[in-house]
Amino acid sequence: PQFVPSDIEIAQQARLRTITAVAADLGLAPDDIDQYGRYKAKLPLALASQPPKGRLVLVTAISPTPAGEGKSTVSVGLSQAFRRLGHNAVLCMREPSLGPVFGVKGGAAGGGYAQVLPMDDINLHFTGDFHAIASAHSLLSAMLDNHLYHGNALGLDVKRITWPRTIDMNDRALRQAIIGVGAGNGVMREERWVIIPASEVMAIVALASDAEDLEQRLGNIIVGTTSGKERTPVRARDLQATGAMSLLLKDALRPNLVQTLEGGPAILHAGPFGNIAHGCNSLVATRAGLALADIVVTEAGFGSDLGAEKFFDIKCRAGGLNPEAAVLVATVRSLKMQGGLPKNMLDQEDLGALERGLPHLAHHITNVRQFGVPVVVAINRRLSDTDAELTMVADYAAKYGVRVALCDVWANGGAGGEALAHEVLALLDSKSAEFRPLYDTERPIREKIETIAAKVYGADGVDYSPAAEKSIAWLEQHGMGNTPVCMAKTQYSLSDDASKLGVPTNFRMTVQEVSGSAGAGFVVAKCGDIMTMPGLSKSPAAERMKVRPDGTIEGLS
Ligand code: ADP
Repeated sequence: PQFVPSDIEIAQQARLRTITAVAADLGLAPDDIDQYGRYKAKLPLALASQPPKGRLVLVTAISPTPAGEGKSTVSVGLSQAFRRLGHNAVLCMREPSLGPVFGVKGGAAGGGYAQVLPMDDINLHFTGDFHAIASAHSLLSAMLDNHLYHGNALGLDVKRITWPRTIDMNDRALRQAIIGVGAGNGVMREERWVIIPASEVMAIVALASDAEDLEQRLGNIIVGTTSGKERTPVRARDLQATGAMSLLLKDALRPNLVQTLEGGPAILHAGPFGNIAHGCNSLVATRAGLALADIVVTEAGFGSDLGAEKFFDIKCRAGGLNPEAAVLVATVRSLKMQGGLPKNMLDQEDLGALERGLPHLAHHITNVRQFGVPVVVAINRRLSDTDAELTMVADYAAKYGVRVALCDVWANGGAGGEALAHEVLALLDSKSAEFRPLYDTERPIREKIETIAAKVYGADGVDYSPAAEKSIAWLEQHGMGNTPVCMAKTQYSLSDDASKLGVPTNFRMTVQEVSGSAGAGFVVAKCGDIMTMPGLSKSPAAERMKVRPDGTIEGLS
């Protein structure tokens, strides 16, 4: 088609199956699931401990344009295509955050004819997981300040509290604030808010293997340090907050079952950021998928330099997962952008810019392959792409010795993803995967950072700010020297400088800040300013939303 209705129009026209019917496709009886209305359900946590029978396929992408590359859309469409071809496939994705819903993107549940439903519920309150996560996070904040108010027996350094507050909203006014103002209102101190995907509790829910592991990880959260020379970490456990936090998260830890536009099963669970966290749906959701289906399609945030690297090095390592194939999503638009074409000209044919952008594709292919996972390139077709452009990308990929498929799921749903599904099946059948993480976690923190910088970003070396050096020494002294590293950098470039497009060479990275997410179980290395509390644009999507008299909604895209 040359015209595709808006996401919400497509979603509102869809006829949903009851969630019990969707669950039955996975071999689950109505009693096995906990229904949240007719179209949503929670799955039992026990599924996550069952032996995997499915094969795991990761969907990743080249470096995105600000609008996104279509990873979610391709993931949904690919799972739809597998089911059309008669395979028992399930989709595992992140839950969207309200920040982007009301900000620019206006929703994050796929797009066009490749969406997950019920789209409005999923984008709004869903099954309440994010509210629960915010509550657990806020409880720890409240208990921390209460501890300070009642005499600070743990000797926390009030000037060096690291536990922020959280809210699921883009609200720049909360980036830096003073709390405890006024008599009797507690200890006055500087505070910052992060959006929920940036909360460590979110990363913990996403990485916990079961309820016990969740509680253990919550207890490990470092909220600050003691004052004086020693600087001993003070943890959530020391504030006796862990039990109550686990209570709030009891149901949030269970994966959610919904459906694709074509009625296939989709498990949506957790939504950690792709920069200061690892950017993947929960481990329990992926494991539940692997226990129930033959093929699990899952997604990791941003490009392969961020999402895929962390999926492999953090999530797969933590959960003992064995990914067997990867799909690398690329669009002609963003390859042209990587080739230097200005953002407002991306819809015009420009074979020169496209050709200059193609080495960027090659770099991402190499990135995935070095983890021992075979890859197929999915060209996410947009209506503005010309035949000459599509042919150029396909020819380049073929010359590079990588499988490639044109993916038309946005305009055509599962039918538009069958070519891609066949390529993925061929990769799975080849049994050529030999997954291995990139680095040994036992190596020193600097060496781990430098390995990622050299092998994934193509950097010549890494420089550290004095503050970062100090933090590394402190973390290694306090038991965090042997965790994976979670790199936080711009998603727009392979380097740490958003303006360096294509395949940057001859550059060094600068690590500004290093911190420990002891609960999540990784060390975060920040290269440059990383936004943990976005702001709204001058005309946010929220201004164009409403509920119509008949109860249907308008404005989610
Ligand atoms: P990502 O997961 O990479 O961030 P999404 O799948 O969320 O990207 O897609 C971002 C936006 O682009 C969505 O609004 C989606 O509807 C739209 N989109 C995705 N693929 C296409 C396409 N082929 N043509 C037009 N719009 C698309």
